[in-house]
Amino acid sequence: MVSFGKKIKYKVSLLIPCYNEQEVLPMLRRELSAFAVTLSEKGYDHEIILVDDGSSDMTWVQIGEWAADDSDHVIGIELSRNFGHQMALTCAYEIAAGDVCVSIDADLQDPLEVIFEMLEKHEAGADIVLGVRRSREAETFFKLTTAKLYYKALHMLGLKFIEKDCGDFRLMNRRGVKALLSMRERNRMLRAMVCWTGFKVDKVYFDRRARAAGETKYPLRKMMLLAMDGVISFSTLPLRFAYWFASVIGLIIMGYLAYTLMKYLFFNGRLVDGWTSIILAVCAFGFVNLFCIGLIGEYVGRIYDEVKKRPLYFVRTNTRDKNEY
Ligand code: UDP
Ligand code: MG
Repeated sequence: MVSFGKKIKYKVSLLIPCYNEQEVLPMLRRELSAFAVTLSEKGYDHEIILVDDGSSDMTWVQIGEWAADDSDHVIGIELSRNFGHQMALTCAYEIAAGDVCVSIDADLQDPLEVIFEMLEKHEAGADIVLGVRRSREAETFFKLTTAKLYYKALHMLGLKFIEKDCGDFRLMNRRGVKALLSMRERNRMLRAMVCWTGFKVDKVYFDRRARAAGETKYPLRKMMLLAMDGVISFSTLPLRFAYWFASVIGLIIMGYLAYTLMKYLFFNGRLVDGWTSIILAVCAFGFVNLFCIGLIGEYVGRIYDEVKKRPLYFVRTNTRDKNEY
């Protein structure tokens, strides 16, 4: 390792999950090589952990070449299939040997120079340093608005500890990583889990760039599933929606009963014209019942997932460890 005669402060692990990132990997490699030189000049050792999350393009070949060319600093991990970003990142945390771990996207959306600010905050005592998006270049109005509404909903559900405008660009020290890895749940929203640990959090603000190349690997469906994990994994409050619905609808029904009774007693008991209200009542109850059953189903499905206790992912190849997996 090039240390330019300085005493090594500590080791920084850079964790990068990659899924079909062949367009962006050459750029990432160039930027990270320059960044690694600056890290060394500042006295840090480093390692780069690239986890290929079951890509179907040339990602793994490129990672393999990179790891072979710089085997002292680069570790390539190939998962057996696509397990999803959060699992690939979990795998990277498990492999990392650094004193601090910094997770970044492969697409260069997270500016590398911000990592120095994170290191400063860490050295000032923070266990976890979150990268908070001050602005988001090239993100759609839809994504920005839904993100805003989502964080409002989290606050209303009492999940205030989940920091808003944070993705998975963050630094964690060993204490934070150990805590995170001790949580073995399958439905993982890491950004929420790290805040839940309660360790000392600090933030750095940054302007999120547009993707350097390729397309987002987080389509709306995946984004919604992750958003649901944020709520369901941390709160059982939605299970009480049934009570709230019942109270609101109960009040309406009591009002309607009073109206019917009055009509019966004081206006000759003509009650035949109730068709619309009956249909409305049937529909409202149908909706509320189905909604609550669906909600319970979400929790039961996740309980089912958890009780199986399957491993979170499988590794096919590890460029450091030549053992068969
Ligand atoms: N990613 C992954 N597995 C997946 C989806 C994404 O490893 O199933 C990686 C992807 O290669 C990238 C990071 O996770 O490095 C974040 O994905 P992306 O940048 O597409 O998400 P966005 O920034 O658009 O939300
Ligand atoms: Mg990205």
